[in-house]
Amino acid sequence: MPPKIKFVYSPVYEMLIEELKTNNRKHMKKLVNRIWDKRRIDRYTKYTQKLQKKWDTIGNKAMNLISKTYKLRWAEKDINCYVLDNIDFSFSVPTTLKISKDLDWILALAIHELGHRLEFENLNRINWNAYNIKFRNESETTKQHILLYAVLENVYTKLFGKKKLREYINADKNNADYKRAWEIVKMQGKKNIIKNFVRQLK
Ligand SMILES: [Zn+2]
Repeated sequence: MPPKIKFVYSPVYEMLIEELKTNNRKHMKKLVNRIWDKRRIDRYTKYTQKLQKKWDTIGNKAMNLISKTYKLRWAEKDINCYVLDNIDFSFSVPTTLKISKDLDWILALAIHELGHRLEFENLNRINWNAYNIKFRNESETTKQHILLYAVLENVYTKLFGKKKLREYINADKNNADYKRAWEIVKMQGKKNIIKNFVRQLK
């Protein structure tokens, strides 16, 4: 069985992020009241439950597809995916997703960050320097997304269909680094990119 994903909203985590952003005590005091408002916590908890329900319809299939496409195994049994509103971008460890009303979008975003996470779990098997030699002229962000996008093309197509895949690719067009990574996947083909990656695995 692949890892079980649990979506979590944590006001404590939200506070911590705010504390990293500011030193202003007055501002923090205001935020404490806002963040610990019970109705607000209930709202986020409900959102999380709704998201969980939607994820559970595709979760196992998604997690198996990610691992099968990468040819890497999940190391963890349970993974918490935190949802937060007060961040500018999502990240992989701890898996933290920027809230969106569009739950389909969040599912795709979760899969993106979990892909990074699977790479992180398998760090001792991957020789990134060797793998990235061909892409040495690309930005760090582009380099970090070429393989992932080759994998996502496969996973998104199988889970959501080609039309949705095109929507997700389109959503990245305003970010030059992401856009470039999709271009490379298109030019080289997902199969070749994944094959080259698998070849250098330890
Ligand atoms: Zn990413």
